[in-house]
Amino acid sequence: MGVFRHSAEKALRSTQDASLDVRAEMQREIDRLLLVNEAMWSLLSERLGLTEEALMARMQELDLQDGHLDGKLVKAPVQCPQCSRQNGRRHLTCLYCGADLPPVRP
Ligand SMILES: [Zn+2]
Repeated sequence: MGVFRHSAEKALRSTQDASLDVRAEMQREIDRLLLVNEAMWSLLSERLGLTEEALMARMQELDLQDGHLDGKLVKAPVQCPQCSRQNGRRHLTCLYCGADLPPVRP
């Protein structure tokens, strides 16, 4: 019994360690993206005189491209006209039934 419990605890610890690694890696990536973003914005505003208002307006415009003002750029999936399942926007035909999917806006 003790052996099984020990193995289970060991597996759990290993899973938790992996989860912490993924989280740390994601945080590093987010920090790097924030830095890239800040560098790009400082260059654009400095050299082209773009304003925060113009930036906010463009953010809203892009956010609304999928019809939802939700603070995300993620575009809505495409619904299959034949089986009603959701498909990724890059697919031309339905993954589930093979029907042609309607064209999507870029
Ligand atoms: Zn389908």
